[in-house]
Amino acid sequence: MAPDPRNLASLIEATADRDIKAGEELSYDYSLYDGDLEDPSLCFCGANECRGSMYSEDELKKREKMMAKAAKKKIGRRKHGRQTVNGS
Ligand SMILES: [Zn+2]
Repeated sequence: MAPDPRNLASLIEATADRDIKAGEELSYDYSLYDGDLEDPSLCFCGANECRGSMYSEDELKKREKMMAKAAKKKIGRRKHGRQTVNGS
């Protein structure tokens, strides 16, 4: 049975590296992995060390390779995509 997504929040435990003021906005690094290649999952947190993406560094490297592969395939398809009519 798949876990109920409404219960996932109760499975996440976070620890702060510093004291948090009351009312302070909190954010954390999602470090997503295995995302849809079409989904850039951009991050707009504004932190100096922001990667610009909610994906983990490892996932970003993996996606870069996958996108390069996909681009090569598209070029290949275009090159060999011409259809010929053989009269049958
Ligand atoms: Zn960010």
